Amino acid sequence: MNSSIASTAMTQEWLQQISLLGTFLEHEPMARHTTLAVGGAARWFFRPTDRTAAIEAMRLCPSDVRILPLGRGSNMLIQDTGYDGLVIDLSDLNSTEFNGFTVRAEAGGRMSRLARQCADHGLSGCEFMATVPGDIGGGVAMNAGCFAQQVSDSLIEIEVLLPNGDVQSIKAEALHFSYRHTDLPAGSIVLSASFTLHPDSPEQIRERMRSMRSRRSATQPLAQPNCGSVFKNPDGDHAARLIEATGLKGFSIGGARISEKHANFIVNEGDASSADILALIERAQLLVKEQTGIELEPEVRMIRDSETGGQI
Ligand SMILES: Cc1cc2nc3c(=O)[nH]c(=O)nc-3n(C[C@H](O)[C@H](O)[C@H](O)COP(=O)(O)OP(=O)(O)OC[C@H]3O[C@@H](n4cnc5c(N)ncnc54)[C@H](O)[C@@H]3O)c2cc1C
Repeated sequence: MNSSIASTAMTQEWLQQISLLGTFLEHEPMARHTTLAVGGAARWFFRPTDRTAAIEAMRLCPSDVRILPLGRGSNMLIQDTGYDGLVIDLSDLNSTEFNGFTVRAEAGGRMSRLARQCADHGLSGCEFMATVPGDIGGGVAMNAGCFAQQVSDSLIEIEVLLPNGDVQSIKAEALHFSYRHTDLPAGSIVLSASFTLHPDSPEQIRERMRSMRSRRSATQPLAQPNCGSVFKNPDGDHAARLIEATGLKGFSIGGARISEKHANFIVNEGDASSADILALIERAQLLVKEQTGIELEPEVRMIRDSETGGQI
Protein backbone atom coordinates (compact mmCIF):
# COMPACT_ATOMS: atom_id res chain seq x y z
CA MET A 1 0.00 0.00 0.00
CA ASN A 2 0.92 3.64 -0.31
CA SER A 3 1.93 4.31 3.32
CA SER A 4 2.18 8.05 2.74
CA ILE A 5 -1.59 8.15 2.20
CA ALA A 6 -2.42 6.25 5.36
CA SER A 7 -0.08 8.22 7.55
CA THR A 8 -1.17 11.74 6.78
CA ALA A 9 -3.27 13.48 9.40
CA MET A 10 -5.74 14.47 6.68
CA THR A 11 -6.40 10.86 5.77
CA GLN A 12 -6.83 9.89 9.41
CA GLU A 13 -9.51 12.56 9.78
CA TRP A 14 -11.28 11.29 6.71
CA LEU A 15 -11.12 7.71 7.96
CA GLN A 16 -12.74 8.70 11.24
CA GLN A 17 -15.55 10.54 9.46
CA ILE A 18 -16.29 7.75 7.03
CA SER A 19 -16.32 5.12 9.76
CA LEU A 20 -19.45 6.84 11.14
CA LEU A 21 -21.32 6.47 7.84
CA GLY A 22 -21.59 2.69 7.72
CA THR A 23 -19.57 -0.46 8.24
CA PHE A 24 -15.88 0.32 7.93
CA LEU A 25 -13.14 -2.28 7.97
CA GLU A 26 -9.41 -2.21 7.40
CA HIS A 27 -7.46 -4.98 5.69
CA GLU A 28 -10.63 -6.86 4.78
CA PRO A 29 -9.90 -10.10 2.84
CA MET A 30 -11.59 -9.79 -0.55
CA ALA A 31 -11.82 -13.56 -0.87
CA ARG A 32 -14.85 -13.14 1.42
CA HIS A 33 -16.52 -10.87 -1.10
CA THR A 34 -15.92 -12.54 -4.46
CA THR A 35 -17.63 -15.61 -5.88
CA LEU A 36 -14.23 -16.99 -6.91
CA ALA A 37 -13.29 -16.83 -3.20
CA VAL A 38 -9.81 -15.50 -3.97
CA GLY A 39 -8.13 -12.14 -3.55
CA GLY A 40 -6.04 -10.42 -0.89
CA ALA A 41 -7.15 -7.70 1.51
CA ALA A 42 -8.66 -4.34 0.70
CA ARG A 43 -6.80 -1.57 2.50
CA TRP A 44 -10.19 -0.05 3.40
CA PHE A 45 -13.63 -1.59 3.01
CA PHE A 46 -16.75 0.50 3.44
CA ARG A 47 -20.44 -0.40 3.33
CA PRO A 48 -22.52 2.80 3.52
CA THR A 49 -25.77 2.53 5.46
CA ASP A 50 -27.71 4.31 2.73
CA ARG A 51 -27.51 6.56 -0.29
CA THR A 52 -26.84 9.71 1.73
CA ALA A 53 -23.93 8.02 3.49
CA ALA A 54 -22.50 6.85 0.15
CA ILE A 55 -22.66 10.39 -1.24
CA GLU A 56 -21.10 11.88 1.88
CA ALA A 57 -18.30 9.30 1.85
CA MET A 58 -17.49 10.13 -1.78
CA ARG A 59 -17.28 13.82 -0.86
CA LEU A 60 -14.94 13.04 2.03
CA CYS A 61 -12.70 10.67 0.11
CA PRO A 62 -9.37 12.28 -0.81
CA SER A 63 -8.88 12.40 -4.56
CA ASP A 64 -5.71 10.28 -4.40
CA VAL A 65 -7.50 7.30 -2.83
CA ARG A 66 -8.46 4.67 -5.39
CA ILE A 67 -12.07 3.53 -5.22
CA LEU A 68 -13.43 0.15 -6.26
CA PRO A 69 -17.22 -0.25 -6.39
CA LEU A 70 -18.17 -3.77 -5.34
CA GLY A 71 -21.37 -5.59 -6.19
CA ARG A 72 -21.60 -9.30 -5.49
CA GLY A 73 -17.99 -9.77 -6.63
CA SER A 74 -19.22 -12.28 -9.20
CA ASN A 75 -17.09 -10.93 -12.02
CA MET A 76 -13.92 -9.88 -10.25
CA LEU A 77 -10.45 -11.34 -9.98
CA ILE A 78 -8.61 -9.44 -7.27
CA GLN A 79 -4.91 -10.12 -7.03
CA ASP A 80 -3.46 -11.99 -4.04
CA THR A 81 -1.69 -8.86 -2.80
CA GLY A 82 -5.05 -7.18 -2.34
CA TYR A 83 -6.42 -3.78 -3.25
CA ASP A 84 -4.62 -0.66 -2.14
CA GLY A 85 -7.62 1.62 -1.88
CA LEU A 86 -11.21 1.88 -0.74
CA VAL A 87 -13.70 -0.83 -1.69
CA ILE A 88 -17.29 0.44 -1.53
CA ASP A 89 -19.90 -2.25 -1.04
CA LEU A 90 -23.37 -0.92 -1.86
CA SER A 91 -25.33 -3.91 -0.63
CA ASP A 92 -27.29 -1.85 1.92
CA LEU A 93 -28.66 0.32 -0.92
CA ASN A 94 -31.21 -2.17 -2.16
CA SER A 95 -34.68 -0.63 -2.35
CA THR A 96 -36.99 -1.04 -5.36
CA GLU A 97 -39.90 1.18 -6.40
CA PHE A 98 -42.49 0.06 -8.93
CA ASN A 99 -44.49 2.60 -10.91
CA GLY A 100 -46.68 1.24 -13.71
CA PHE A 101 -44.43 -0.63 -16.12
CA THR A 102 -41.22 0.85 -14.72
CA VAL A 103 -39.09 -0.07 -11.76
CA ARG A 104 -36.28 1.88 -10.13
CA ALA A 105 -33.82 -0.30 -8.26
CA GLU A 106 -30.96 0.78 -6.05
CA ALA A 107 -27.59 -0.55 -7.13
CA GLY A 108 -26.88 -2.90 -4.23
CA GLY A 109 -29.94 -5.12 -4.68
CA ARG A 110 -29.46 -8.56 -6.15
CA MET A 111 -30.54 -8.93 -9.79
CA SER A 112 -32.20 -12.24 -8.89
CA ARG A 113 -34.37 -10.51 -6.29
CA LEU A 114 -35.40 -7.84 -8.82
CA ALA A 115 -36.36 -10.58 -11.29
CA ARG A 116 -38.57 -12.24 -8.66
CA GLN A 117 -40.16 -8.92 -7.69
CA CYS A 118 -40.88 -8.14 -11.34
CA ALA A 119 -42.53 -11.55 -11.74
CA ASP A 120 -44.69 -10.81 -8.68
CA HIS A 121 -45.76 -7.55 -10.35
CA GLY A 122 -46.50 -9.33 -13.65
CA LEU A 123 -43.67 -7.52 -15.43
CA SER A 124 -41.52 -9.25 -18.03
CA GLY A 125 -38.15 -8.26 -19.52
CA CYS A 126 -35.62 -9.09 -16.84
CA GLU A 127 -36.18 -12.85 -16.40
CA PHE A 128 -32.51 -13.51 -17.20
CA MET A 129 -31.53 -11.61 -14.05
CA ALA A 130 -32.91 -14.52 -12.02
CA THR A 131 -29.85 -16.51 -13.08
CA VAL A 132 -27.04 -13.94 -12.85
CA PRO A 133 -25.54 -13.79 -9.34
CA GLY A 134 -24.69 -10.08 -9.32
CA ASP A 135 -26.13 -6.81 -8.07
CA ILE A 136 -27.97 -4.19 -10.12
CA GLY A 137 -24.94 -1.86 -10.15
CA GLY A 138 -22.60 -4.64 -11.28
CA GLY A 139 -25.15 -5.70 -13.89
CA VAL A 140 -25.29 -2.18 -15.30
CA ALA A 141 -21.50 -1.79 -15.22
CA MET A 142 -21.08 -5.10 -17.08
CA ASN A 143 -24.21 -4.89 -19.26
CA ALA A 144 -24.86 -8.39 -17.98
CA GLY A 145 -26.96 -10.72 -20.05
CA CYS A 146 -27.84 -14.25 -21.09
CA PHE A 147 -30.64 -16.17 -22.80
CA ALA A 148 -30.85 -13.41 -25.46
CA GLN A 149 -31.62 -10.68 -22.90
CA GLN A 150 -29.30 -8.08 -21.44
CA VAL A 151 -29.47 -5.12 -19.06
CA SER A 152 -29.41 -2.57 -21.88
CA ASP A 153 -32.62 -4.00 -23.42
CA SER A 154 -34.82 -2.56 -20.69
CA LEU A 155 -32.71 0.10 -19.00
CA ILE A 156 -34.05 3.66 -19.23
CA GLU A 157 -31.79 5.65 -16.97
CA ILE A 158 -29.23 5.38 -14.19
CA GLU A 159 -28.01 7.62 -11.42
CA VAL A 160 -24.28 7.75 -10.80
CA LEU A 161 -22.21 9.15 -7.99
CA LEU A 162 -19.29 11.09 -9.43
CA PRO A 163 -15.86 11.26 -7.77
CA ASN A 164 -16.60 14.81 -6.53
CA GLY A 165 -19.73 13.57 -4.72
CA ASP A 166 -22.26 14.95 -7.24
CA VAL A 167 -25.11 12.72 -8.39
CA GLN A 168 -25.91 12.68 -12.10
CA SER A 169 -28.76 11.05 -14.04
CA ILE A 170 -27.74 9.49 -17.33
CA LYS A 171 -30.13 8.24 -20.02
CA ALA A 172 -29.47 4.75 -21.32
CA GLU A 173 -28.68 6.05 -24.84
CA ALA A 174 -25.68 7.94 -23.44
CA LEU A 175 -24.16 4.78 -21.97
CA HIS A 176 -23.18 3.34 -25.38
CA PHE A 177 -23.79 -0.25 -24.35
CA SER A 178 -22.16 -3.09 -26.19
CA TYR A 179 -21.44 -6.73 -25.38
CA ARG A 180 -20.54 -6.76 -21.65
CA HIS A 181 -19.59 -3.11 -21.81
CA THR A 182 -21.07 0.15 -20.54
CA ASP A 183 -19.56 3.62 -20.84
CA LEU A 184 -19.79 4.91 -17.29
CA PRO A 185 -18.18 8.24 -16.37
CA ALA A 186 -14.63 7.62 -15.08
CA GLY A 187 -14.52 6.77 -11.39
CA SER A 188 -18.30 6.84 -11.02
CA ILE A 189 -20.48 4.53 -8.95
CA VAL A 190 -23.94 3.47 -10.13
CA LEU A 191 -26.47 4.33 -7.41
CA SER A 192 -29.68 3.20 -9.08
CA ALA A 193 -31.12 2.00 -12.36
CA SER A 194 -34.61 2.37 -13.87
CA PHE A 195 -36.04 -0.23 -16.20
CA THR A 196 -39.10 -0.35 -18.41
CA LEU A 197 -40.82 -3.71 -18.65
CA HIS A 198 -43.97 -5.12 -20.21
CA PRO A 199 -46.94 -6.90 -18.68
CA ASP A 200 -47.23 -10.68 -18.70
CA SER A 201 -48.65 -13.39 -16.51
CA PRO A 202 -46.60 -13.92 -13.34
CA GLU A 203 -46.81 -17.68 -13.77
CA GLN A 204 -45.43 -17.56 -17.32
CA ILE A 205 -42.63 -15.25 -16.22
CA ARG A 206 -41.75 -17.61 -13.35
CA GLU A 207 -41.83 -20.59 -15.70
CA ARG A 208 -39.32 -18.89 -18.02
CA MET A 209 -37.07 -18.19 -15.03
CA ARG A 210 -37.29 -21.80 -13.88
CA SER A 211 -36.39 -23.02 -17.34
CA MET A 212 -33.37 -20.67 -17.53
CA ARG A 213 -32.17 -21.84 -14.09
CA SER A 214 -32.38 -25.50 -14.98
CA ARG A 215 -30.60 -25.01 -18.32
CA ARG A 216 -27.83 -23.25 -16.44
CA SER A 217 -27.37 -25.86 -13.74
CA ALA A 218 -27.24 -28.59 -16.38
CA THR A 219 -24.34 -26.95 -18.22
CA GLN A 220 -22.36 -24.90 -15.68
CA PRO A 221 -20.30 -25.88 -12.60
CA LEU A 222 -22.40 -23.93 -10.13
CA ALA A 223 -21.41 -25.98 -7.08
CA GLN A 224 -17.84 -24.66 -7.06
CA PRO A 225 -16.61 -21.06 -6.65
CA ASN A 226 -16.35 -19.40 -10.07
CA CYS A 227 -16.96 -16.09 -11.86
CA GLY A 228 -19.17 -17.23 -14.70
CA SER A 229 -17.70 -16.93 -18.18
CA VAL A 230 -14.04 -16.03 -17.90
CA PHE A 231 -13.72 -14.83 -21.51
CA LYS A 232 -16.03 -12.94 -23.83
CA ASN A 233 -17.16 -14.94 -26.83
CA PRO A 234 -15.28 -13.77 -29.92
CA ASP A 235 -17.39 -12.78 -32.95
CA GLY A 236 -19.03 -15.83 -34.45
CA ASP A 237 -17.51 -18.35 -32.04
CA HIS A 238 -17.57 -19.53 -28.45
CA ALA A 239 -14.69 -19.17 -26.02
CA ALA A 240 -15.63 -22.53 -24.46
CA ARG A 241 -15.35 -24.31 -27.82
CA LEU A 242 -11.98 -22.71 -28.57
CA ILE A 243 -10.57 -23.62 -25.14
CA GLU A 244 -11.92 -27.16 -25.35
CA ALA A 245 -10.23 -27.56 -28.74
CA THR A 246 -6.85 -26.84 -27.14
CA GLY A 247 -7.32 -29.81 -24.80
CA LEU A 248 -7.31 -27.60 -21.72
CA LYS A 249 -10.69 -28.75 -20.39
CA GLY A 250 -10.01 -30.17 -16.93
CA PHE A 251 -6.47 -28.74 -16.83
CA SER A 252 -5.44 -27.34 -13.44
CA ILE A 253 -2.82 -25.05 -11.98
CA GLY A 254 -2.55 -25.04 -8.19
CA GLY A 255 -6.08 -25.04 -6.81
CA ALA A 256 -7.73 -23.70 -9.97
CA ARG A 257 -9.13 -25.81 -12.79
CA ILE A 258 -10.67 -25.23 -16.20
CA SER A 259 -14.05 -26.79 -15.56
CA GLU A 260 -14.77 -30.26 -16.93
CA LYS A 261 -18.38 -29.16 -17.31
CA HIS A 262 -17.85 -25.86 -19.19
CA ALA A 263 -14.46 -24.88 -20.58
CA ASN A 264 -15.13 -21.12 -20.28
CA PHE A 265 -15.44 -21.51 -16.49
CA ILE A 266 -12.51 -21.66 -14.09
CA VAL A 267 -13.36 -23.17 -10.72
CA ASN A 268 -11.63 -22.77 -7.39
CA GLU A 269 -11.26 -26.26 -6.01
CA GLY A 270 -10.78 -24.95 -2.49
CA ASP A 271 -7.30 -23.50 -2.14
CA ALA A 272 -6.77 -21.61 -5.40
CA SER A 273 -4.91 -18.33 -5.40
CA SER A 274 -5.62 -15.45 -7.70
CA ALA A 275 -2.24 -16.21 -9.33
CA ASP A 276 -3.38 -19.78 -10.13
CA ILE A 277 -6.46 -18.43 -11.88
CA LEU A 278 -4.49 -15.80 -13.75
CA ALA A 279 -2.00 -18.46 -14.89
CA LEU A 280 -4.88 -20.54 -16.29
CA ILE A 281 -6.30 -17.48 -18.06
CA GLU A 282 -2.93 -16.80 -19.67
CA ARG A 283 -2.45 -20.46 -20.62
CA ALA A 284 -5.84 -20.55 -22.34
CA GLN A 285 -5.15 -17.27 -24.15
CA LEU A 286 -1.75 -18.50 -25.33
CA LEU A 287 -2.95 -21.86 -26.67
CA VAL A 288 -6.04 -20.44 -28.36
CA LYS A 289 -3.92 -17.72 -29.98
CA GLU A 290 -1.33 -20.26 -31.17
CA GLN A 291 -3.94 -22.60 -32.61
CA THR A 292 -6.44 -20.16 -34.10
CA GLY A 293 -4.93 -16.67 -34.07
CA ILE A 294 -7.86 -15.51 -31.94
CA GLU A 295 -7.12 -13.35 -28.90
CA LEU A 296 -9.51 -14.23 -26.11
CA GLU A 297 -10.54 -11.15 -24.17
CA PRO A 298 -11.29 -11.66 -20.47
CA GLU A 299 -14.84 -10.88 -19.38
CA VAL A 300 -13.82 -11.14 -15.72
CA ARG A 301 -12.59 -7.80 -14.38
CA MET A 302 -8.97 -8.09 -13.25
CA ILE A 303 -8.36 -5.80 -10.33
CA ARG A 304 -4.68 -4.89 -10.42
CA ASP A 305 -2.42 -3.06 -8.01
CA SER A 306 -1.72 0.64 -8.09
CA GLU A 307 1.42 0.27 -10.17
CA THR A 308 -0.55 -1.12 -13.08
CA GLY A 309 -3.32 1.40 -12.83
CA GLY A 310 -6.19 -0.34 -11.10
CA GLN A 311 -9.10 -1.80 -13.02
CA ILE A 312 -8.65 -2.82 -16.62
C1 LIG B 1 -22.24 -18.68 -11.74
C2 LIG B 1 -22.11 -17.38 -12.49
C3 LIG B 1 -22.84 -17.19 -13.63
C4 LIG B 1 -22.74 -15.99 -14.34
N1 LIG B 1 -23.49 -15.83 -15.48
C5 LIG B 1 -23.46 -14.66 -16.14
C6 LIG B 1 -24.27 -14.46 -17.30
O1 LIG B 1 -25.02 -15.31 -17.72
N2 LIG B 1 -24.20 -13.26 -17.92
C7 LIG B 1 -23.38 -12.28 -17.49
O2 LIG B 1 -23.38 -11.20 -18.08
N3 LIG B 1 -22.60 -12.44 -16.40
C8 LIG B 1 -22.61 -13.60 -15.72
N4 LIG B 1 -21.82 -13.78 -14.62
C9 LIG B 1 -20.86 -12.72 -14.23
C10 LIG B 1 -21.43 -11.71 -13.24
O3 LIG B 1 -22.44 -12.28 -12.43
C11 LIG B 1 -21.98 -10.48 -13.95
O4 LIG B 1 -20.98 -9.83 -14.69
C12 LIG B 1 -22.59 -9.49 -12.96
O5 LIG B 1 -23.24 -8.46 -13.66
C13 LIG B 1 -21.55 -8.87 -12.03
O6 LIG B 1 -22.26 -8.23 -11.01
P1 LIG B 1 -21.60 -8.01 -9.58
O7 LIG B 1 -22.54 -7.21 -8.78
O8 LIG B 1 -21.17 -9.29 -9.00
O9 LIG B 1 -20.36 -7.11 -9.97
P2 LIG B 1 -18.87 -7.20 -9.38
O10 LIG B 1 -18.25 -8.49 -9.77
O11 LIG B 1 -18.88 -6.85 -7.96
O12 LIG B 1 -18.19 -6.04 -10.23
C14 LIG B 1 -17.98 -6.19 -11.62
C15 LIG B 1 -17.51 -4.85 -12.17
O13 LIG B 1 -18.55 -3.89 -12.01
C16 LIG B 1 -18.11 -2.80 -11.20
N5 LIG B 1 -19.23 -2.39 -10.35
C17 LIG B 1 -19.90 -3.15 -9.46
N6 LIG B 1 -20.88 -2.42 -8.89
C18 LIG B 1 -20.79 -1.17 -9.42
C19 LIG B 1 -21.50 0.02 -9.21
N7 LIG B 1 -22.51 0.13 -8.35
N8 LIG B 1 -21.13 1.12 -9.92
C20 LIG B 1 -20.11 1.05 -10.82
N9 LIG B 1 -19.41 -0.05 -11.05
C21 LIG B 1 -19.74 -1.17 -10.36
C22 LIG B 1 -16.96 -3.34 -10.39
O14 LIG B 1 -16.09 -2.34 -9.93
C23 LIG B 1 -16.32 -4.29 -11.40
O15 LIG B 1 -15.53 -3.58 -12.31
C24 LIG B 1 -21.88 -14.97 -13.89
C25 LIG B 1 -21.15 -15.17 -12.72
C26 LIG B 1 -21.26 -16.35 -12.02
C27 LIG B 1 -20.47 -16.53 -10.75
